[in-house]
Amino acid sequence: MKNKINVLDDLTINKIAAGEVVERPSSVVKELIENSIDANSSKVTIEIVDGGKKLIRITDDGIGILSSEVDKSFLRHATSKIKRLEDLDNLYSLGFRGEALASISSVSKLEMITKTKDEPIGTKVVLEGGKVILKEPIGCVNGTTLIISDIFFNTPARQKFLKSTHAETINISDLINKLAIGNPKIQFKYINNNKPMLNTPGDGKLINVIRSVYGKDVTENLVEIDFKNNHFELSGYIGTNNVYRANKNLQHIYINNRFVKSKVILDAISESYKSIIPINKHAVCFLNLKVNPSTIDVNIHPNKMEIKFESEKEIYVELKDYLKGKLLQSNLVGIYKNYD
Ligand code: ADP
Ligand code: MG
Repeated sequence: MKNKINVLDDLTINKIAAGEVVERPSSVVKELIENSIDANSSKVTIEIVDGGKKLIRITDDGIGILSSEVDKSFLRHATSKIKRLEDLDNLYSLGFRGEALASISSVSKLEMITKTKDEPIGTKVVLEGGKVILKEPIGCVNGTTLIISDIFFNTPARQKFLKSTHAETINISDLINKLAIGNPKIQFKYINNNKPMLNTPGDGKLINVIRSVYGKDVTENLVEIDFKNNHFELSGYIGTNNVYRANKNLQHIYINNRFVKSKVILDAISESYKSIIPINKHAVCFLNLKVNPSTIDVNIHPNKMEIKFESEKEIYVELKDYLKGKLLQSNLVGIYKNYD
């Protein structure tokens, strides 16, 4: 065999990279909503058909993209959010890798309509399998709409592994709930197969989003959290011992407004609830930790859900002690002794 080394072309590179960023329809929804959040939107509408397999449409009223910049947004490693690595030390946006649009467009049929407030007319661009097949001016309102159809039409191996419409829909709904709760100032509207599923008020009040998503029973059993020390600023709500779950679905942890899966924080929470809720049950919590971006690393996985803290041990202890204290001060129904 001849050992001939090929330098892959951009489209092939994007399709390979898409394997990491775009695992399934919910990953597309995640990336697009995060872009809308980063674009300072006050309203984001998400429409899906057949669990996102047929269609995903995300519409925002954010800053939009200049016509002259539209093509660049689909290039790999093209981002308006950082210029150099050090900018990660000061990062408050959800995106920074400049990979999502390149990856998504390489494995789907995509249409973008966008307009900034500084241009009198918007831009419509259509891509298929990563290639621009149409770009033209269009009259539209300020903001950006992305329409993704036929996801994985050109990567049959991926398409074969798509889960059922039901499973994909559950995943997307779960994700939208998390992003909505992480962004109370943004009004989220979610429509599944033409059926309205969620409409958050966007009034900036976390409790009102929690009520829209999880209803009165959860909302009425929460303790408000507000705490600050040298490592973090903590806000949000935690459940009393009147409300807990068999799984961890109602444990929402955000670091600088990014939804994360943080083992340290989840461990601290479950430790502080020991003997307060039954063993094998999970507390309900909606917590946002504000930390100095230079003390965390968000660049561990392409989906940016994992995070590494500089002072992991301290954060664990401080969080656990604070939450435990707060729980003991609260009006818990006097049953926690039963769980010792
Ligand atoms: P990243 O979010 O990491 O910067 P993306 O590939 O997701 O990379 O997006 C590329 C760029 O396209 C963004 O940096 C931003 O400038 C622009 N963009 C994408 N979506 C939107 C949107 N909804 N509104 C305004 N600009 C957007
Ligand atoms: Mg992005």
